[in-house]
Amino acid sequence: MNNTTKIAVIGMGQGGMVAAIKLAQAGAKVTVFERGLEGKVGYDWRDDITASVFDDCGLPRPNQDVYIQKAKWLFVSPDEKGALRVPQFKPFVEISPHRRRLTAYFADLAVRAGATINYGVNVEKLVVEDDRVIGIELDGKLEHFDLVIDATGMYSKLREQLPEKFCVQKQPTEQDTMYAYRAFFEKNEGAETFFSDVDNTMVLRHMDSDGIGWCNLNDEGNVDVLLCNIARPLTDDEIAERLADLRAMNPILSEKKLSDRKVPLSVRAGIATPVADGYVALGDSAFMTIPIMGSGIEAGMHGAAIFADYVIAMDIQNFTAANMWPFYVKYFAKFGKGFALLDIVRRHALRFKSKYINWALSGKFVNDDTLRYLMLQPDDYRRPKYKFGMFSAILWKLIFNPSFNCAVLSMAFEGLHALNVAGRIPKKYSLDGIAKWAKKYNKLIDNCEKKAAKRQARANKK
Ligand SMILES: Cc1cc2nc3c(=O)[nH]c(=O)nc-3n(C[C@H](O)[C@H](O)[C@H](O)COP(=O)(O)OP(=O)(O)OC[C@H]3O[C@@H](n4cnc5c(N)ncnc54)[C@H](O)[C@@H]3O)c2cc1C
Repeated sequence: MNNTTKIAVIGMGQGGMVAAIKLAQAGAKVTVFERGLEGKVGYDWRDDITASVFDDCGLPRPNQDVYIQKAKWLFVSPDEKGALRVPQFKPFVEISPHRRRLTAYFADLAVRAGATINYGVNVEKLVVEDDRVIGIELDGKLEHFDLVIDATGMYSKLREQLPEKFCVQKQPTEQDTMYAYRAFFEKNEGAETFFSDVDNTMVLRHMDSDGIGWCNLNDEGNVDVLLCNIARPLTDDEIAERLADLRAMNPILSEKKLSDRKVPLSVRAGIATPVADGYVALGDSAFMTIPIMGSGIEAGMHGAAIFADYVIAMDIQNFTAANMWPFYVKYFAKFGKGFALLDIVRRHALRFKSKYINWALSGKFVNDDTLRYLMLQPDDYRRPKYKFGMFSAILWKLIFNPSFNCAVLSMAFEGLHALNVAGRIPKKYSLDGIAKWAKKYNKLIDNCEKKAAKRQARANKK
């Protein structure tokens, strides 16, 4: 890569910045455009990731002023009677970076690598000539780039402007979106958390919704609340009702609100194709998230690193869709096909009757020991020894619950089918081949959505 290769990165989330850093380090002339102002980019809160993602992406880990150890979590059943502790890995395997500080850390690395960052610039138009993206429009003028990296997020307006022939999905559907309401409250002085030694509590299918509700004591001594829903934002009345429920359950949550924000998350399996001539979508713009919870920091970083490593290794100068496509095949093999399975699991599991989740979290099906045994490494002293009968209880319960069994089995079959279709992503790029596969892959997700909704409607009628 040489410094005559001009690359524009639009949006400085993690996806865009990992690509910007790596491509600038490799010698490209990288310009980042971000509509937010310097110091104000990224959320003013913490989210969770695995620390090793920095190593995987070939980037140094940030200093500890950026992150803290991930807190202990508790999953609570919809009826709020059962709970399971989420096993904690060894210290600092999972961390909670402060989003704004993480952005500043990436910005520093990018500038050191030679990239230029332009804050306060809203890029709304791609310039397309002869079906190729040749740059962006700024103040009514064309700014030429060899490659435009779209990292503007799941509702990218740039993606919509691509020529149809590349089959890049224009927008996600409502069912691909989790609408979150996140708010911070003062803590009630002297109050204890729901479980005295666990700061973070997440209620699954909170109040029988298809979302979750969490109520966490954060490192600043405030209470971090998240409420969410699939397909539509919560109304103010619903928010008030859900907050009242969390308040009744968790005494730390006061009435004194410090801030709040409504924000959508992508819970959709990866886009079928993120490339066009002169263009690539990375991060949420390509739905690179773990579809169960919408975790896209890590997935977006991985996707961006795979992209940058590929184009650097192949010394790509001509950024056609066909030349860039193999990066996506690699991404799909490592992450994307697994995320397709998780997308299907999410669509079904969020519609399971609450009674099943109540039962699963009651401690009679699996308990804290079973989870720690399944999730922790054999060399971790917190992993319990295998006990005879540990799993026979699970089998027993499954055998004697045919309707639950049925729901789980059909989810498993559809998930495996998704894994299979996603795994058959075309290795070579041709417009026809991509169009055919994209149709099949998108249909799979649409069909699953319809089937899961039908099953839920039938179950609700009974
Ligand atoms: C409440 C909540 C909790 C979450 N928790 C987690 C978690 O625990 N773990 C996890 O991994 N993920 C989590 N996520 C998801 C995560 O935030 C996203 O998946 C991730 O930030 C996506 O990164 P990105 O780089 O694709 O884009 P973004 O982080 O969305 O960044 C896009 C950037 O582009 C800029 N931009 C947009 N349009 C333009 C334009 N036209 N011109 C210029 N700039 C533009 C925006 O200002 C923004 O800075 C959470 C999200 C939310 C909302």
